[in-house]
Amino acid sequence: MSVPTTRRMGTSGSELADAAALLLAGELVALPTETVYGLAARADDPGAIARLFVAKGRPSDNPLIVHVASMAALARVTAHVTPLAALLLERFAPGPLTVVLDAHPDLPRAVTAGLDSVAVRIPDHPVMLEVLRRCDVPLAAPSANRSGRPSPTNAMHVLDDLGGRIAAVVDDGPTRIGLESTVVDARGTAPIVLRAGAVSHEDLLRACSGVVPEGSWGDAATVRASEPRAPGTRHRHYAPDIPVHLARPGEGRTTAVAVLGTLRAAGTERPRIGLVTTGPGTAGRSEAPLDTTGPEADIEHLGAPIDASALARDLFAFLRRAEERGLDALVIEGVEEVDIGRAVMDRLRRAAEASGGSAS
Ligand code: AMP
Ligand code: MG
Repeated sequence: MSVPTTRRMGTSGSELADAAALLLAGELVALPTETVYGLAARADDPGAIARLFVAKGRPSDNPLIVHVASMAALARVTAHVTPLAALLLERFAPGPLTVVLDAHPDLPRAVTAGLDSVAVRIPDHPVMLEVLRRCDVPLAAPSANRSGRPSPTNAMHVLDDLGGRIAAVVDDGPTRIGLESTVVDARGTAPIVLRAGAVSHEDLLRACSGVVPEGSWGDAATVRASEPRAPGTRHRHYAPDIPVHLARPGEGRTTAVAVLGTLRAAGTERPRIGLVTTGPGTAGRSEAPLDTTGPEADIEHLGAPIDASALARDLFAFLRRAEERGLDALVIEGVEEVDIGRAVMDRLRRAAEASGGSAS
């Protein structure tokens, strides 16, 4: 589908009314959520869903997350809400937790990629919630990027990927979290994490403590072990066009110099590398700035997020910026694998793996 120009809208009442009207007419509109920008289409309209898959270039076997505004609206897309799902949503909704449940018989199977289960969440973003309420239909809203590109965390990212292919984007600035929701299969009695995300393993443990028998569900390793159950995680994801090298905190500069050496030895003329540093002391680093005359001359310091949450917020923007600047590689220091750090490291490893980089 081709839309000559994609309208960039603000968040005034009349603009959100326009956004809702476009969606009700079966058009595609990108909307901000607390995680990343989502590309919305009405979930009850197979034509709109088909256009959504085409606009994203998304493989048709990768199911979509459906967004609803309230617990009551869950009944429109699910066959029934399990006690486990009720417990999790009580704690985390509205918020970045997606639960997989049995799908409502009337939900078009294009949304679920033919599965009899549906992934659904209640987003925690005033704009998204307002548009959902105005539409009064569930909205499918996968991340608003071309398939295989990093998720968009601002409206410019959306336009870069989907400009001319969707009706509109509602611009509400950068997203608060920057990483996608956690996807949990909640059909049984214990949660199975299908995709790591903004709700951490620790959060889930706390929510289930005393309710779900201890030891009845896996640790964070479940995220990888259960991969086949989240169809989308099979696909090439988070893969920028340039190699991403994951370094330990504090070792990014050394890694970057080594990568430069490898590139030069392989014959790349004047290679340039992006560097993102993290960890203690990152903010207002006391260490010396990059030596612009020595071995570090071709390293561009793209940023120094102060903690895992800050890296989560900016990670996808760093990946996109490195590409735009035509850099030959990107070195990113990791973070400790606790709380949101787990999801950050999950994305970084995927980026390193998919781009042919390295992970230390
Ligand atoms: P995205 O909307 O692009 O952030 O991706 C949605 C994620 O949820 C993908 O990893 C999907 O595979 C996963 N997902 C969506 N629906 C289901 C489902 N019914 N069962 C398991 N995983 C799902
Ligand atoms: Mg996505």
